[in-house]
This record gives sequence, structure tokens and C-alpha cells, in this order.
Amino acid sequence: MQTCVENLKSVPELRRGDELEVVIEKFADRGKSLARLDGFIVFVPYTAPGDRVRIRIQRVKKQYAEAIPLEILEPSPLRTQPRCRYFGTCGGCKWQHVPYDVQLSIKRDTVEQAFVHQAGFSKLTIPPTLPSPDVYHYRNKMEFTFSHRRWLAPWEIAEGKPLDRSFALGLHVPGFFDRVLDIHECYLPPPKTVHLLNNIRSFVKKQGWEPWHIRHHTGYARHLIIRTPVYTSEIMVNIVTAREDPQRMEHLAAFLQTHHPEITTLVNTINRSPGQTAFGESFSVIYGPGVIHERLHGLTFEIAPNAFFQPNTRGAEQLYEVARTFAHLQPSDRVYDLYCGAGTISLYLARYVAEVIGVELVEEAVANARRNAALNGITNATFVAGDLLHLFTPDWIAQHGKPDVLIVDPPRGGMHKKVVQQIARLRPERMVYVSCNPMTQARDIAMLRDIYTIEAIQPVDMFPHTHHVENVVGLRLKHTP
Ligand code: SAH
Repeated sequence: MQTCVENLKSVPELRRGDELEVVIEKFADRGKSLARLDGFIVFVPYTAPGDRVRIRIQRVKKQYAEAIPLEILEPSPLRTQPRCRYFGTCGGCKWQHVPYDVQLSIKRDTVEQAFVHQAGFSKLTIPPTLPSPDVYHYRNKMEFTFSHRRWLAPWEIAEGKPLDRSFALGLHVPGFFDRVLDIHECYLPPPKTVHLLNNIRSFVKKQGWEPWHIRHHTGYARHLIIRTPVYTSEIMVNIVTAREDPQRMEHLAAFLQTHHPEITTLVNTINRSPGQTAFGESFSVIYGPGVIHERLHGLTFEIAPNAFFQPNTRGAEQLYEVARTFAHLQPSDRVYDLYCGAGTISLYLARYVAEVIGVELVEEAVANARRNAALNGITNATFVAGDLLHLFTPDWIAQHGKPDVLIVDPPRGGMHKKVVQQIARLRPERMVYVSCNPMTQARDIAMLRDIYTIEAIQPVDMFPHTHHVENVVGLRLKHTP
């Protein structure tokens, strides 16, 4: 939903730190809710329309303010009991207090806002959001952060137990890169991930490994990434450290091999840079093959430590199935899969058509796509590395053949205008636009409205308890009589 800035009044005398009472009016952007103070907009996370809530102002901008909720004075009838103790402080979930069917309808409204209200496709009817096959425990990858400074949830403070505040391994508080909660429970990954998290934390603390210090750039342990595929029993643990220390890795390996034989590979990523990212300069495989495998619609995919893979396996299967249905594939079709990543959509569609050509910017992803094609004995999928902005020329198209179907799945920013213009010249008969950002998707499709008709549209939920929504649009070329 787009932030409404109509009816703006002048900035009231609001200051950071002010505490006041508001009634929440509606859900708004990025998982937050919206209240008005004499018409002036205040965004409050972790609340629901109808909540009467005491808030503390955190930021005051020209057109709006941001606040945190302190106390729910009168709960909204919409509310449900959040499952997790860290909900309300942790950045992992925004909507555990909102029943799942309501989450789905907010996501549908987001798509409607983008297509009907923003892009002006006024006759479009948006169907209900397809729910994620798993509402909890759906994430096959979790990335936890080590910190020298533990942030406490309100109930941890209230319990008053003596706590070591110089160590944390967990998830961030939203908007604060240096505040990390020491997470002991989490319902996004399967329970085995949390079990590993807790045991690895105990080991690291006992060994006296120093957590990374975000300001001083000292310390050793930086991140812990745990990958647990759904369809295989393989598990990858990737520990990101600030430097190499073979002896420490030997100790960790011995501990994990004794206590967690279910881990099939241990990887150590080295990240010497000051920035807070889990992406390292290099990695070494401590034991096991250094990769794991996951399946999608019966195909096997190899996942390397730095490779992107859809975080919700069953959700991705559902998303791809929608895309396939919307493409109305014929056995003789030539399909272009643009922004193909490691080729998961291309390889899934290959069995239904004559030929698939996947295009992707990142060389490493293209190498993975080719490897995955070989792994599954798929010979009718070709992968090309390149920037769509420059690659997609008439010569290139002459060389690869004109497509019958175009699949596009760009990053959040959508497609570059020039790429959309090239599609307009290419004019494949059918097109399917998969997107994680309905706003940019609607903008791009609006540019094609004279030549394409929206035939089908379907919001899909891949990330329950967050505001993220995927949307699939099926388009068909208009034929002028
Ligand atoms: N379709 C894939 C993932 C798509 S994510 C899947 O379902 O798994 C979007 C992809 O677009 C990323 O892999 C990114 O590297 C790629 N990309 C971004 N800009 C690009 C460009 N200009 N040309 C080609 N690929 C690009």
C-alpha cells in the first residue's frame, strides 16, 4: 500500500522521545501500520488497525514520523497471539500478531494498489493471495549474526535475570545494524536449525571465540548460516569469521561431527571487510562436499555456499507452477528466461518445451545453472551470462531465435526501461512476469499496455509473517485486426 500523504497538516510539535496515545488506522508500507495525529502520519510497527496504543516517537520527518509501540492499551479485534517470544523486537517477522488470512488479504491489497490504483489497470480483478504451503518453519536458509553487544527483548529485561550482555548470536532489531538479539527460538526455519543454533552458540561461548565488534572491527566470529533443504536430509553450516584459524575450525569440526552427524558439510567463509555482510572474500570447506542439494518439482539443484536459492522450497514450487500455467506452454515453444539466476525456472520449464534460453548477469549463477542442467540430464536449456541491457540486441536474437514465450523475474527494482523497450520490439506471443515487487512490476507492465493484455494475475505468498509478496502476471500479445 502506498503511503497516503494527502490531507497533510503542518508538522505538529512532535519530538523524538515523546510518548503519546494513538489509534491505529490501517496497515501501511513495509509491514508497518499507520496512525494520524491531527492528520499528521505516524508509522508504528507491530500494530494492527483498531489498536489503541501508547507509542514513543523515534524520528520526525517533514511528512511523517516513526514511532515504536510501548503498550497496547486496547487491542484490535484483528489481533492474534504471536507465537514467538522475540516478536515485537526482532526484525525477522513483522506480522505474527496478524492472523494468516488477514496477512494474505493485505498482500492482495498491495498488488491491487500497484496495478489498479497506481498503474491504472482499472478493470483488473485481483484474486486472493495463494498461501505459502508452510506458514511456519518454511525457511531453508537462516543467517544469524554474532555480536559483542546483546540487545534485550522487553521480557528479558523484565525477568531481571543476570545476563551476559557481551555476547549475542541471533537476529537484528529492525533498523539497527548493531543491535542483535540472542535468539533461542524462531519459527521461520525448521526446529533442527534452532537446535543447531543453540548448540553452536554454547560451543562458541565455551571456546571463548570473540564476537565481531562492529565499531572497532575486532573479534573473530561474524555470522552463522544454516541451510536445511526440505527434500534431502543434507545440512550445510557456514560459519563466517574475520580471519582464518585452522585450529579453531578443527575444534568446531570435531564438536559438530560428534554431536551433530546430521550436518553433511561445514564451510568457513572469511570476511575481513569492516561491513556487516555475511558475504565473504573466500571460503574453505572444512568437511563434507562443500555443497548441498535441494529438489524442486523432482529436479535436483546443487547449492554452493554463496549461491542464491529460493528460501521457501515448497513456496517456490508453487510460484513456478503458477508461472508455468500462465505461460500456456506448447511442446514446440522456445522460451527465454530472463534474470534466470541459477536457472531454476528454466530447468523446471525445459521438460514442457522444445528449448529454453536463460540469461543472467552473475557468471557464477550461470555456471551453477549449467551444472544443474547437467546434473538433471537436461540438454534443451542453454544459459548465457550477460547484462540484459546490452546483450539483448537484434543480432543476439537472430542467433538464438525468436522466443514464443518470455519469462522475466527481475530484482526488486524491476526492469530497466531499455529492457522493456526491447521486449516491446521483440513481441513474443506470451509473457510471464514474476516479481517480488508489485510496484515496479505494475510500472513495467504499464509501459507495455498498448501491445500486451493482462490475461492472468496471481499474488503468491512465499514469506509468511513478513510484508513481502510475490506476484505473477500472464500477458498475451494483442493482435490488431
Ligand atoms: N529467477 C531466479 C532468480 C531471479 S533473482 C529464481 O527464481 O531463482 C533476479 C536475478 O536477476 C538475479 O540473479 C540477478 O543477478 C539478475 N540480474 C539483475 N540485473 C540483471 C541484468 N541487468 N541482466 C541480467 N541479469 C540480471
